Amino acid sequence: MNAQLATAVPPRRWRPSPLVAGSIALHGLAGVGALLAPASWPWALGAIAADHALLGAVGMWPRNSWLGPNVTRLPAASRARGEIAITFDDGPDPEVTPRVMELLEARGFRATFFCVAERAREHADLCREMARRGHGVENHSLAHRATFALLTLGGIRREVAGAQAALAQSSGTAPRFFRPPAGVRSPLLDPVLHELGLTLVTWTRRGFDTREGDAALVASRLLRGLAAGDILMLHDRNSARAASGAPVALEVLPRLLDAARSAGLTPVPLHEAIAR
Ligand SMILES: [Zn+2]
Repeated sequence: MNAQLATAVPPRRWRPSPLVAGSIALHGLAGVGALLAPASWPWALGAIAADHALLGAVGMWPRNSWLGPNVTRLPAASRARGEIAITFDDGPDPEVTPRVMELLEARGFRATFFCVAERAREHADLCREMARRGHGVENHSLAHRATFALLTLGGIRREVAGAQAALAQSSGTAPRFFRPPAGVRSPLLDPVLHELGLTLVTWTRRGFDTREGDAALVASRLLRGLAAGDILMLHDRNSARAASGAPVALEVLPRLLDAARSAGLTPVPLHEAIAR
């Protein structure tokens, strides 16, 4: 027997979360019920409509794990090292991203960029620079569609796998983590992430910096109860403008980094904080 084959760990099969498994079972029961007792079809249809409404509501709530695994805090080993993760979504942006990297580098810290692959193709130099400086370049979909959670299985696969290929080409390394546009997802996302070997990462807290231009308020939302293991979310594109006219994320970041340092915490990229 080939020794390599004998010791190889078979890839873990995708298993639905209890909520999704229950939903699949409900569809089967409703179908069988409607076949055996055709007069019951309004009940079967009602049950399926209620199930879809429940799954839709759960998908709108970014931090839950009911549709599949979802990282909202760094693991214990990382927390024990006093680490936090600062993440930037929607870039790269030729104006903001280089300044984010400068602010991080001035304090000796690194972060994670959840990039939109279509932007990354336009600014491949920025993605290469992120990777060269040790930041994380991760997957935030191909085109950041507002309808991402409504796509078919094939549509989700195209958005996630297409971004995976484009980002690997731009940065030189394949992403390990995925964050859906606006954090909104459907039950069809988890099997696609499993197939591509990606882990869903949302956040511990977000600053709502795309809507809020007050840097003190955005920083206070992110820093409330700051502790080891926190995953904080900002934007290096689409950030609201502060009173100074600068993107508010650029005014918030130095406050975050200084607060982390005072608390004895170290911002690191997700790929260092989360073991394979
Ligand atoms: Zn986004």
